[in-house]
Amino acid sequence: THFGFKTVNKEDKEKLVGGVFSSVASKYDVMNDAMSMGVHRLWKSHFINRLDAGMRPGSNRGLDFLDVAGGTGDIAFGLLDHAERKFNDTSSTMTVADINADMLREGEKRFQSTRWNDGSDRVKFLVQNGEILDQIPDNSKDVYTIAFGIRNFTDVQAGLNAAYRVLRPGGIFACLEFSQVDNPAIDYIYQAYSFSLLPLMGQLIADDRDSYQYLVESIRKFPKQEEFKSMIEKAGFYVPEKGYENLTFGVAAIHIGVKL
Ligand code: SAM
Repeated sequence: THFGFKTVNKEDKEKLVGGVFSSVASKYDVMNDAMSMGVHRLWKSHFINRLDAGMRPGSNRGLDFLDVAGGTGDIAFGLLDHAERKFNDTSSTMTVADINADMLREGEKRFQSTRWNDGSDRVKFLVQNGEILDQIPDNSKDVYTIAFGIRNFTDVQAGLNAAYRVLRPGGIFACLEFSQVDNPAIDYIYQAYSFSLLPLMGQLIADDRDSYQYLVESIRKFPKQEEFKSMIEKAGFYVPEKGYENLTFGVAAIHIGVKL
C-alpha cells in the first residue's frame, strides 16, 4: 500500500482475473444476458458483420483468424459462420486463445457440437496470455479480434503491441469492449445501474458479488475511446478516420486498427 491506498500488484490482478472467470465460466452466458439484457448478442453480431471478414472470391488462400480472450467461442464461431455464409469460405483458420483454461475448455466443449468440428484442424484452442502470445509467431495472422477481454489485461499496451506483432502487414485489429457513455444523462442512469444493480445480480444469479463488482470497476477504469485509440496507434497501427464506433451511447465501442 502507498499512502493508505490499496494497490493491486500484477500477480494479484492475474489471480483475481483468473478467479473471476473460473467461477463464472459455466454461468457466463446467463450472466451476460442478464447483465446486458441480451444486448451483448446484438453488439457481437454487429461487430462480426462490420468486420465482414472472409476469403474473397479469386483469392488463393484462406485467412488466419486469431480471437484473443475468446473464452466460450462466441466471436470465433460467429466469424467462421459469417465467412462461410457470405463468402463460401471453408478454408480460413481460427485460433481461439484465452488465459483461462476453464473458459477455453467451455469453448472447446461447444466446438464439439458445431459443424466446424469436421476433423479438418481448422480451429485450434490455445491457452495464451494475450499480453505475450508466445505461441503465436510474428506476422502470422490476418485478423485479430478481441471482445470484452482487453480491459482485463494487466498491461493493455503490451496486449496491443502483441496484436501488432502477430498480424501480417495488411492485417486488421478489431476490438469490442465496454467503453464510456458520452451523454451525461444516460451516463448517470448507466452508472446507477452498474454500481448497484450489477453486483446485486451477480450475487443473485452467480452467488458471486465480488467478481461482478470487479467487472464494474474494470469497465470504469478502462481508457476512454480517444485514449484507447491513441494506444492502438502507439502500438503501430494505422487507425482509419474516427477510429471507433460507439454502440448503445458508448456503453460499448468497436475500435479498428490496420497494420500497414
Ligand atoms: N470474448 C468472449 C465473449 O465476448 O464472450 C469472452 C469474454 S470474457 C468477459 C473475458 C475473457 O478474457 C475471459 O475468458 C478471460 O479468461 C480472458 N482474459 C483475461 N485476461 C486475459 C489475458 N491476459 N489474456 C488472454 N485472455 C484473458
